[in-house]
Amino acid sequence: MDKRAHTSLEYYLHGASPRILLFSGMHGDEYEAGALLLAYLKKNNAVLPDFLYIPKISPSAVAAKTRKNKYGHDINRQFVENTTDQEARTVMSLLSPFHFTLCIDVHEDPDRTMGFYLYDSEHMSESELLAYRDAVHTTDARLYTGVDDMDDEHLNLYVEKGYVSLGYDQSVETAGFSSRWLYEKNICKRTFTLEIPGKAPTKLKESLVRVVVSLLLSLNKSKHV
Ligand SMILES: [Zn+2]
Repeated sequence: MDKRAHTSLEYYLHGASPRILLFSGMHGDEYEAGALLLAYLKKNNAVLPDFLYIPKISPSAVAAKTRKNKYGHDINRQFVENTTDQEARTVMSLLSPFHFTLCIDVHEDPDRTMGFYLYDSEHMSESELLAYRDAVHTTDARLYTGVDDMDDEHLNLYVEKGYVSLGYDQSVETAGFSSRWLYEKNICKRTFTLEIPGKAPTKLKESLVRVVVSLLLSLNKSKHV
């Protein structure tokens, strides 16, 4: 995997035709999971499909270890056409020429100790849900059930056993989420946003990143056989 830069934005490219997109560092106070994703990809890229990975979607938020970036924005509200946020614009210009089948965006939920969940811009089938929940159960994490947080990033949605579908195919709202922008621009229809429990021990965060990312890649692969 080659380290590259698009203006000042660092990214990694593995292989010639990436269909997998990976993000971390959207929120600077959630970056431990991002560092673990980078380590996972460095260790395993030889057996992974081609991918493009942006480790720090908001470099200034990661540097400051804050949710908001140097422009005072939650960057995950800035993925709209006329944004003035230079960091969001740089990510958008890098990704515009590409088409991916799957995006995996790694975050942490600072309120959770053991409970893991993810957002799906589409819908998992029953068998996919079963495989996903079985995979999480191989770690020490629990599948979170309850309302997600009412902060800027989230939608105050009900999470059931670690899973919530955003159903972009059925909704018309625009919120400036990166996943919504990728969907609308036909760059990537399917985004999984992982919410690693922020208060979990590093070892558990590492297991979740490894187990859930490899499971999502295997579901994606089996779909295109
Ligand atoms: Zn986040």
